Order: sequence, then structure tokens, then C-alpha cells
Amino acid sequence: MVRVRIAPSPTGIPHIGNTRTALFNFLFARRNNGEFLLRIEDTDRARFVPESEKAIYEILEWLGLKWDGKVIKQSQRLEIYKDHAEQLLKKGSAYKKEGAIHFEMPRTGETSWDDLIGNKHISFKNETQEDFVIIKSDGFPTYNFANVVDDHLMEISHVIRGEEFISSTPKHIQLYKAFGWSPPDFAHLQIVLGPDRAQLSTMHGAKSILDFRKEGFLKEALLNYMALLGWRFAGQMENEERTPYVFPEREIMSLDFMILFFELKDVNTTSPIFDIKKLEWMNGMYIRKSQISNLKSQIWEYLDKKYPVETIGKTAPLIKDRIKKLSEYLLLCDFFFKEPEKYEIDLSGKKEMFRNIEIALENLTEWDEIGIGEHMQKVAKDIGVKNREFFMLLRVAVTGKKISPPLNESMEILGKEKVIKRIKKVQNL
Ligand code: GLU
Repeated sequence: MVRVRIAPSPTGIPHIGNTRTALFNFLFARRNNGEFLLRIEDTDRARFVPESEKAIYEILEWLGLKWDGKVIKQSQRLEIYKDHAEQLLKKGSAYKKEGAIHFEMPRTGETSWDDLIGNKHISFKNETQEDFVIIKSDGFPTYNFANVVDDHLMEISHVIRGEEFISSTPKHIQLYKAFGWSPPDFAHLQIVLGPDRAQLSTMHGAKSILDFRKEGFLKEALLNYMALLGWRFAGQMENEERTPYVFPEREIMSLDFMILFFELKDVNTTSPIFDIKKLEWMNGMYIRKSQISNLKSQIWEYLDKKYPVETIGKTAPLIKDRIKKLSEYLLLCDFFFKEPEKYEIDLSGKKEMFRNIEIALENLTEWDEIGIGEHMQKVAKDIGVKNREFFMLLRVAVTGKKISPPLNESMEILGKEKVIKRIKKVQNL
């Protein structure tokens, strides 16, 4: 039975790097009908960030990477680690010094394993290793110790984590040996780098996942993009019926599609490069391809449910090809919810023209985009104003902006009463 876990330390808000690790664990578990567990490694009280634990849950839930069973919290298991340290003392594999318990590493030979990423044999000479603390003098276990005890007790079959933990793995393997346990399989993922090949940081546009959400990224796009940070679909689709969600490019993949095809053997052995432009492009793709009903509720939720959902539903089709992030929706569509306060073009001195528009709109019995369009063309012709100029002024009067969603449709959605009120207002400028 495949059982994997993520073991975040609550020392910050999860970012692209550790959330990608969560995604790969989740995909591996689901692909193999296994379990995906969550353990909070919160024994390092000095580095504890209170809002971090809540953010871990919130991010996993938002992304749909729900863990199985109860969350394990290491800070509630101190007795278990003490007991296990006692066992090692009894076996003679550990000793006490200065109030702490140390593990005694072998001095000769090698510690090695076959890593599942790239099928690499990784080996460390034991002479390069040193004894290490397993229980600190304050009674708290160290990361290395609690991590191994829990992976064993939780019956973890595969440890999939970042390559920054490779150097700790010999310690872990020796602990398993000392207990007489068999170690899990290890898969160490290449670390995500920025375009300059430096460790990923906020300089590269990498932020916490909560920040990406706040900026209007869709979870589908984030999941898809994170999967591509190291994994590529390499499967043969022998049966197309199994893949109802596939987009033609195969780079755009739903979570369900990834679950069907995720294999550790297809994970890259070189560091993936985080590229914010590509993520933005992908987000735009998802917005364009999204079902309108789905986009409607995503925008509505993104805006904290503060704007009428029907209006969002009517206006989303007008802008979905133009925006890359949900945050751009209001930049284009705010005028549907409130009258313009300022106008991007000076509309003063156009009273006559707007009075004509007002009369024509008043006379309109069928308030739809076609009727509106026809009547407005007629007014432009009658008063001898070029179409281009006429519609620009009308657009600014209704929306406040020089660039807006299609004008006739926008006027239809706004409704006769509101449009006429706006046309009246600009006659007094
Ligand atoms: N607590 C470690 C972390 O913060 C867990 C490493 C592991 O997965 O073994 O990532």
C-alpha cells in the first residue's frame, strides 16, 4: 500500500516550492490508490510562525489537495519520541551528553540508497558523518529523529521531498537500521530555481500561495503550472476514453488528468525554472477555457462575494479573452457596479450630442445590443459625427474608460435606466 506524507514545518506561509512537493505527493498517492497524509513538524518552537499552520490547511484545501485522515502534530507526541530515544539508549546506539541524547553514527563503511528520481544510487562515506542530537536538553526531539520515528509509525512507504534533505538522509537511514526497521523508498525532487538559476525567491515573482490567490490566479492554473515544475506528461494514451479532460496541447492538464498519468520516473533530474510569465500565460488560458458558470463563481468568490453574481455572470463572457488574472476583472468591469467618477476623455461641451443620444435611447422599445447599436449609428449619422469619435465619446460617458468591454453589450447589460442616467449626467459637465 502506498502511503506518502508531507511534513511541513510551520515556519512560514507555503510557497511554490513546498506546495509543489505536496502536489507530487498527492498525485503519487492518488495514482497508486494510496494515502496522502499530513504531518506538522512543529517541534522547533523558536522558528514557529503562528499563522503558518492555518495557512498550510487553507492552501491545501483551496487547491483541492485534501489529506487523508487526521493531521499528525509532532508537538503532541513528545512522549513517543522520548520512548524511542530510550530504546536506542538501551540498544547502545545512543548516548547522553550535556543533558541531550546523541545518536552514534557508524564510523566506517557507506550509507546509500537508490533514489527514485532519476534512479540514482546515492552514497555517503560514513567517515564524513558525525553523531547528532536526537533529543535536545529541553526534551524536544530534533527534526531528524522525530521525522524518522513518525515516518515509521505512520507506515510511510515513499518519502517524496526536496533535494535539500539529501544530506540528512544518511542519518535517517542509520536511525532506521538502529531500530531494526526497514526504511521507506526515497525520492528527492530537484529544487525550483529562478530564471537566473538562483534559489527561488520573491525577486523572481515567487510568493506564498495565498498571495497568488489574492492576485487572482486560479487554482487550476497553479496546480497545472506546479506540476510542470519537474514533471512532464510522457505517457502514451492507449485509450483516449480514459482522458476526457485532456486539452490538445498536453501541457494544459487538469488535476484528474495528472492523477491518471503521474509517474515518479517521469520527474526531471534537472532543476525546474520558475517563470512567472508562463504562469500568467497559463492562468489566462484557464480563464479563456473556463466554463462561464465556473468563471462566474470564481470571480464572485475572488471578490469576497461582494458584487451581484448575476451581473458577474453576464459580464464575464465579455472580458474572459482579455484578462490573465481575476484581479483584472474589476479594472475592466467596475462601471457595471458604480457610475464612473471620472472620465478618461473630457466630455464637456458635448451637451447637444448627448441630448440626441438620450432621446434616441428613450425611444428604444427593445433594449438589446442590436437595437442599441442601430439607433446609435443613426444618431451619429444624423448629427454628422464620425462613428469612431461618436462611439469613443459614448463609451467614455457610459464606462468612464477609453477601453472597455464591447459597448453595445455593456449597455444592454447595464439596462436602460442606468445608461440614460449616465448620459444625462455628462450633459452637465
Ligand atoms: N519538516 C521538513 C520540511 O519542512 C520535512 C522534510 C521531509 O519531508 O522529510 O520540509
